[in-house]
Amino acid sequence: MTRRYSAFGLFREGLRGHTGWQPAWRSPKPKPRYDAVIIGGGGHGLATAYYLNKNHGISNVAVIEKGWLGGGNTGRNTTTIRSNYFYPESVALYDFSLKLYEGLSRELNYNIMLSQRGVVTVAHSDAEMEIAARIVNAMQLNGTDAELLGREGVLEKAPLLNSSDRARYPIFGGSWQGRAGVARHDAVAWGYARAADAAGVDIIQNCEVTGFIVENGRCAGVETTQGAIRGDNIGLAVAGHSSVLAAKAGFELPIRSYSLQAMVSEPVKPCLDTVVLYLGTATYLFQSDKGEIVVGGGLDRVPSYAQRGNPPMQQHIISGMLEMFPSFGQLKMLRQWAGVVDVVPDSSPIIGPSPLPGLYLNCGWGTGGFKSIPAGGWLLANLIANGTHHEISRPFDLDRFARGRLVDEAAGSGIAH
Ligand SMILES: Cc1cc2nc3c(=O)[nH]c(=O)nc-3n(C[C@H](O)[C@H](O)[C@H](O)COP(=O)(O)OP(=O)(O)OC[C@H]3O[C@@H](n4cnc5c(N)ncnc54)[C@H](O)[C@@H]3O)c2cc1C
Repeated sequence: MTRRYSAFGLFREGLRGHTGWQPAWRSPKPKPRYDAVIIGGGGHGLATAYYLNKNHGISNVAVIEKGWLGGGNTGRNTTTIRSNYFYPESVALYDFSLKLYEGLSRELNYNIMLSQRGVVTVAHSDAEMEIAARIVNAMQLNGTDAELLGREGVLEKAPLLNSSDRARYPIFGGSWQGRAGVARHDAVAWGYARAADAAGVDIIQNCEVTGFIVENGRCAGVETTQGAIRGDNIGLAVAGHSSVLAAKAGFELPIRSYSLQAMVSEPVKPCLDTVVLYLGTATYLFQSDKGEIVVGGGLDRVPSYAQRGNPPMQQHIISGMLEMFPSFGQLKMLRQWAGVVDVVPDSSPIIGPSPLPGLYLNCGWGTGGFKSIPAGGWLLANLIANGTHHEISRPFDLDRFARGRLVDEAAGSGIAH
C-alpha cells in the first residue's frame, strides 16, 4: 500500500535517518494485455492513467514510456499555468485545467508547488492595448478572471521592468490574470505517477513503442522494445513524436515538430514575484523558488527533432530579457535546454479518436501543454472509457480540420506559454 506523505511522516523519517522511504512507484514487467495502454509517460499520459482509475474505475492500465518519466517536455518546460485565452472553447479547456490544478496537491497527496503569482502580459502601443482589452473582455465573458492594467498597474506588479520613455518597447499597460502562476513540473509528473501506480497502473519505462497491432481494422495493441502489449483501447500522448507514431499507425497528423528552448540564470535574491510576458519581444520570464530567473521565448525557426535548440533563438531570448529588465544584464546564465513540441496550424490541441479505431489522440499542445495536463488527462480518460467526447474536448477533435472549424488561438490570443 502506498504510504501517505505528511508532515508527521517527514519528521519521523528525519529522526530515523530517512531509512523508511519506499520507491514512489513500482517498475513492473509488462503484462501481455491491458484494458487500456497509454503511450507516453509525460504529464498527459500519466494523468490519463490516473483519471482512468479515479473517474472510471479502470485500473488495468499500462503507461509505456521510451525513456524516463517526465523526461520529455513535461520535465523541460517553464511551468506557466494560465487560462488567458480568447475563444470560449479554449477558456473552457484551460480554466477547467487550472481548477483541477488548484486542488491537485491535496488530491494526489503530493506537493506540486502551485504558486498562483499571476501573469502580466505587457502591451507597448495603443493598438496592443486594444487587443489586451479585447482579450480581457472575452475572458470575463467566458467566466474567468482577468483585469486590464494601465502603465502604473504593470509597474506595480513588476517594478524592475524597463520603464524608460526611451525604451524600444515602452510600457502602455497590459492584461493580468491573478489565478495564473507556476508549478513544479517534475512534481506534477511524479504525483500523477505515484497516484496511478497506487491504483494498480503499470508504469513501464525504457520501453519504446515501435509499431501498432491492427486486427480487423482496429488497433489491438502495440509492438514495443519489450515485446507486444495488447490493449482494448490505446491512448497516444507523445507530444513532439505524435506524427512519427501516427505514421506507424498509417495516418497523418497536421503537426510539425519544433525545438522550443528555455534557460535559467544563477539564483539571486527575490526580485520578481509574478510571471511577465512581453508582446514586443515575445519573451517571458519569472523567478523560480530557488531564485533563478527562468526565461523562455518562441519556437526555433525550422522544424527539428533535436532536443537542444539553436543559438540565434538563444540570442533573441536573452536580448528580449535585457530589453525588459536591463538590470538583469549582470546575471550569469547557468543552463539552457530544449524540448520537441508538437505544433498545430491553429495552435490548439487535438483530443479525440484517431482515424484508426481503438486509438485515441492527445497531442498538438505545442508550446502550452503543461498548463493543460490535468484537463488533457481527464478528457482522454473520458474518451477511452466512454468512446465519446466530453463537451469540453469536442471542439478539439481532429475533424475540425476537415470541417474548417479551427480554434485559432494563434490569431486570437497570440502564442505564449
Ligand atoms: C522549453 C519549453 C517551455 C515550455 N513552457 C511551457 C509553459 O510555460 N507552460 C505550458 O503550459 N507549457 C509549456 N511547454 C509545453 C509543455 O511542456 C508540453 O506541451 C507538455 O509538457 C506536453 O506534455 P506531454 O505529456 O504531452 O508530453 P511529454 O512530456 O513530452 O511526454 C511525452 C512522452 O512520450 C514519450 N515517447 C515519445 N515517443 C515514444 C515512443 N515511441 N514510445 C514510448 N514513449 C514515447 C517521450 O519520451 C515523452 O516522455 C513548454 C515546452 C518546452 C519544451
